[in-house]
Amino acid sequence: MPARILDGNRVRDEILAELRPRVDELRSDTRPPGLAVVLVGHNPASEIYVRRKVETCAELGIYSEKITPAADICTADLLGIIEGLNQRPEIDGILVQSPLPKQIDSRRVLLAISPQKDVDGFHPLNVGNLVAGVPAPRACTPAGIMELLKRYEIAIAERRAVVVGRSDIVGKPMAIMLLHENATVTICHSRTPNLAEECRRADILVSAIGRPALISREHIRPGATVIDVGMNRLTDGGEVVRIYGPNSPKLDQLARKGSILLGDVHPLEVADIAGAYTPVPGGVGPLTIAMLMSNTVAAAERRLRKAPQPVAC
Ligand code: NAP
Repeated sequence: MPARILDGNRVRDEILAELRPRVDELRSDTRPPGLAVVLVGHNPASEIYVRRKVETCAELGIYSEKITPAADICTADLLGIIEGLNQRPEIDGILVQSPLPKQIDSRRVLLAISPQKDVDGFHPLNVGNLVAGVPAPRACTPAGIMELLKRYEIAIAERRAVVVGRSDIVGKPMAIMLLHENATVTICHSRTPNLAEECRRADILVSAIGRPALISREHIRPGATVIDVGMNRLTDGGEVVRIYGPNSPKLDQLARKGSILLGDVHPLEVADIAGAYTPVPGGVGPLTIAMLMSNTVAAAERRLRKAPQPVAC
């Protein structure tokens, strides 16, 4: 049986379609949900991500505002901008696009965002809410993966899940979310001995490491569901040939665009062995923005309908 492709674009469209009537209701009852995106300096990749977020807000009828401080802004001034956004009633969500320039104290910036408006779900209070199972904004990428697994009816309870990567924004929250759904969860990282052996135990394998095609045949249990979070750019033709073979159309793509996008999982081997997998591109990527929209709408509903808020500091 060929492996099933888990289509992130399809799930994103479903999520956005379900958000539309909720946005319409808020707009007719009171006002649109509001998202402020803070983009410091001129990082080309960040500019693309922010443009997509702002465009998706416009498609849904969410009010969005882009704030673009200069690259040399100091921490105190950035904290001032965030404090201003915390006070504004029509702003329900605040997102500070990473990476931030080196002179900025990212930790202080994260802590300055009101937990109620932390639509990235990265504030330690919301991480605590996740661990405790309290409703609050959840980290968008792992929350999107949970939506994908549920909508494709992939069983999680009583299954073994292995998460490779332990970052605060993907690996750790992913592991907690799978645990809440009664998977038996293992977290692996760069110091895990016998990574392939650990991965081969997985019914659900999630890779969030940022190493092109590191997860290969030897890491994948036949029939497993493989979720590839990695977003890596290959610019070396030799690497492209090693991974895709000498006659792959990816070589033309490399010649035209100067790079190709690749996940952490070997794209040909996963298709041979897995039961289901997310492609790169078109898998996990589209879900992250959809869940940002979902967090923004939920934050607006909580604030406008005076529903219980996540506990404040
Ligand atoms: P990160 O903060 O750099 O964390 C990477 C993790 O991978 C670390 O825990 C690291 O272990 C582990 N790791 C690195 N090399 C390893 C190896 N050889 N074997 C086992 N574990 C290894 O990265 P991140 O922010 O979580 O992002 C991971 C990837 O996902 C990146 O490619 C990123 O671009 C992508 N991403 C995609 C989306 C999306 O929307 N699709 C969203 C977020 C991130 P240690 O902790 O031991 O160092």
